[in-house]
Amino acid sequence: HRILLTGANGYIATHILSQLLASPDNHFIRAVVRSQSKAEDVQSIFPNASPSRLEFVVVPDMTAHGAFDEALKSELPFDIVMHTASPFKYDAAGSPSDFIDPAVKGTTEILAGIQRVAGSSVKRVILTASFAAVGAWGLRDEKNKVYTEEDWFPVTSADVEARGSDKNFVYLASKTFAEQAAWEAQKADSVTWDLVAINPVIVYGPLLHKVKSVDNVNESMAIIWNKFLKEANPEGEIPPNGVPLYVDVRDVAEAHVLALDNPEAANQRFILAAALADSQKIADILRAVVPGANERVPRGTPGKSTFPADQWSADNSKVQRVLGLKFRSAEETFGDSGRQLLELIKAV
Ligand code: NDP
Repeated sequence: HRILLTGANGYIATHILSQLLASPDNHFIRAVVRSQSKAEDVQSIFPNASPSRLEFVVVPDMTAHGAFDEALKSELPFDIVMHTASPFKYDAAGSPSDFIDPAVKGTTEILAGIQRVAGSSVKRVILTASFAAVGAWGLRDEKNKVYTEEDWFPVTSADVEARGSDKNFVYLASKTFAEQAAWEAQKADSVTWDLVAINPVIVYGPLLHKVKSVDNVNESMAIIWNKFLKEANPEGEIPPNGVPLYVDVRDVAEAHVLALDNPEAANQRFILAAALADSQKIADILRAVVPGANERVPRGTPGKSTFPADQWSADNSKVQRVLGLKFRSAEETFGDSGRQLLELIKAV
């Protein structure tokens, strides 16, 4: 395939890139980043990737009209577009529009760009959507709910106005509005591509992308660092539960790669959720498998779930059935996450 990949320097996208470059299928990837230095960072992760397999293009502002038009132009046309870029760093965003504009306009611009410049060559758009756009996040009764790909976060612009200072809520809305815009664009008569939405729950697992220090890891891995490992706190309280389901970053990347060719994936959403994991379970695994974690991670009451009896969950069968994805074990995901985070402190 000839693939345009946006947000190529991100946590998830560098894993996608790694798997695409390792594939025997000789894919060509044009990686979109926001600056030349970010292109250099990514190239340095894959020093052996030749220009015949990997090249870079800088798109400084994906909200600009025609933002991706130059990136999409190619003598040998692209047949796949993978759009991962979307704001997720809470520190980097001030107002709701800092999340919502790039999420929505980045999506609509790249889809309009395909229509304008790539003609009918693009056959599939793979969107890194989110379970953010699936859950009800408190707007509906979630007791005992098992979410499926049929469900949508019922958020409206009025909700965002009312809760504009809650960055997590605004992020969830941004991913919902962006995915809705993508499905809307897909319906146009002139469209030659189908859409595959990959909707991961919270993503953990090793980082491939460059970070300055452990305090600069991406938003989801920062949860493992801040809640479990940052302080030496073995006698402390188990932190409150976050998103109850998790998935490994390597499995998220693999789902994007499996979606390249599968005809049954056309115009489908896929929830990516390996399993439920409450904070006690995460703590138990970190303490059991990560050297040095015992001196940091709260002990709590090993083995005792901190979920309520009516905890909501999600059906993860569709991606296994249709794409053939197999999920890694919790020990592998949390073990590799914890080991790498503790290595990052030593590296400073
Ligand atoms: P990262 O923050 O590591 O990656 C985000 C990517 O998007 C980066 O390349 C970033 O570029 C780019 N980006 C952010 N804001 C903008 C903007 N305003 N304009 C252009 N590019 C921008 O996070 P992840 O890898 O985790 O996120 C990748 C995708 O996965 C996102 O769409 C996210 O919503 C989705 N996702 C992530 C989950 C998780 O738990 N990690 C769960 C579900 C979905 P730059 O480095 O220049 O800022």
